[in-house]
Amino acid sequence: MSLFGTNGIRGVLNESLDPELGYKVGMAVATYFDSSDVVVGYDNRTSSDLLKNMVIAGIMNSGKNAVDIGMLPTPALQIYSKTNNIPGVMVTASHNPSDFNGFKVIARDGTNPGKQDESKIEDIIVKESFIKTSWDFVGKTRREDAIKPYVDEIIKNVMPSKIRSRRFRILVDCANSTTFATTPPLLNKLGTHYLSINANPDGFFPGRNPEPTEENIKDLISFARLGGFDFSVAHDGDGDRSVFLDEKGNLIDGDKFVALVADYILQKRKGNLVFPVASSFLIDRIAEKHGVKVIRTPVGSPAVSDALIKYNGILGGEENGKVIYPDHLNAGDGGLSVALMLDIMASNDTEVSELVKQLPDYKLKRIKLPLMKNFEELKDGLKQFYSKMDADEIDGLRLVAKDSFILIRKSGTEPVTRLYLSSLSNEWIESREREINKIVSQE
Ligand code: MG
Repeated sequence: MSLFGTNGIRGVLNESLDPELGYKVGMAVATYFDSSDVVVGYDNRTSSDLLKNMVIAGIMNSGKNAVDIGMLPTPALQIYSKTNNIPGVMVTASHNPSDFNGFKVIARDGTNPGKQDESKIEDIIVKESFIKTSWDFVGKTRREDAIKPYVDEIIKNVMPSKIRSRRFRILVDCANSTTFATTPPLLNKLGTHYLSINANPDGFFPGRNPEPTEENIKDLISFARLGGFDFSVAHDGDGDRSVFLDEKGNLIDGDKFVALVADYILQKRKGNLVFPVASSFLIDRIAEKHGVKVIRTPVGSPAVSDALIKYNGILGGEENGKVIYPDHLNAGDGGLSVALMLDIMASNDTEVSELVKQLPDYKLKRIKLPLMKNFEELKDGLKQFYSKMDADEIDGLRLVAKDSFILIRKSGTEPVTRLYLSSLSNEWIESREREINKIVSQE
C-alpha cells in the first residue's frame, strides 16, 4: 500500500491517521533531505496543531531545525520553501471534509516532490530507517513570518499601481480556512475595497464545505447578486485554487478563467502552454492566436508541473480553474489567481462578464458515472461506437471530432468514472451524453 496518494497522505485522526505518523513524517523528511532546516506549516483543521507538533518533534529528533511558520495556505509554505531553498511539510487535507487531515511534503524548490522522492521518503517511514540524533545535537524550533513575504512575492507578478488606481470592489469567501490570513492583506495592498465572508478560520467549516463547487458557494453567489462588486472569489480549503463570479454573480467556468489568464500572459511574453486532456479546445484557440503550442498531459496538477519543467512551458492550468505559473511557483496558487484577475481587469476597461463573453464559447460538461468493473471493455466499446473520431489514451480515452471531445477516465481521488464532454454546441454534448449513458447501462 502506498502512503502518498495523488496529493499527499490523508486520513481521519486516530482512525486511519495515527498522530505518530506525523512524528515519522517529520523524521523521514529530515532524514531524506540534505538540509539543516525543515519548514512546517498547517491549516485550520481541528487536529492540525497537534499533528504539526508531532512533525516538529520528528524533525528535531533527527537533529534538524524546524521553522514553524504557523497557520497559512499551502502555496505560502511553498513560496517560503522556494525563496529559502529548504524542504517542508504542510499539515493539511486540502479540500477534504472536516474529519480528514494529512501531510504534504514540499521539495526545496517549492514544488511537490516527484514520485521517486516520495517513494524514498515512504521507504524510510516503512523501514524506520530514520536518522535519530544524540542528546547533544537535538534540533531547535524557531518561528518565522511567511505571510508578508508570500503576499509580496505574489504582487511581483502584477502591476500594483495600475490596480490600485482602479479601486476595485471585491467580495471574497475564505472557506473558514487559511486564506483568511493572506487574501485580505493581498486585497488591501492592491488598494481594493473588499468584503469577506467565512474569513474566520474554523476546523468545523461552519460556513461551507471547503471545495468551491457552485453548490457549496451558494451564500457567496446570493451576496454577489446583490451587486456592487467588480468580481467575487471563493478559495478552496488550502488556497491553491480560486473560483470567480462575474459582476452579476454568475460563476465563471474554471476552463474559461484559465483561458483568460493564458491570453493575458501571452500578450506579454510567448511560450508554450501545458494543459491536461480534460481542458477544452478553448486553450488551443488562445495558443493559435499567439502562435504557441499546447502540450497535453494526464489529468492532475503534478502531471502539469512535470511537463512545465520538461517542455519549458510558461503557463499551465486545469479546467477546475487552477493556474500554474512556474515563474512564480510551479504549483497552483489561489492568491496569485486573485492578483492576476485584478491585473487583467486593470488592463481592460470592460466588466469581467464582457471579457468572458469575448472568448469562443466552448462548453465543458463534467459528469460522474459509477465505477466501471471493466473499464478496458468500456473503452473498446466506445472506440468502436465512435470509430470515426480520433482516439488518444493520454489519460483514459479521449475521442476527438474537430472542436469537440469525449473524455472518459477513472478518477484518481474518488471511486467513480469521470466523463467530460466539450463542444461549441450544446446539442452535440446532449446527444453524446444520451448515447454514452445507453452504452454504460449495457456494460
Ligand atoms: Mg487545494
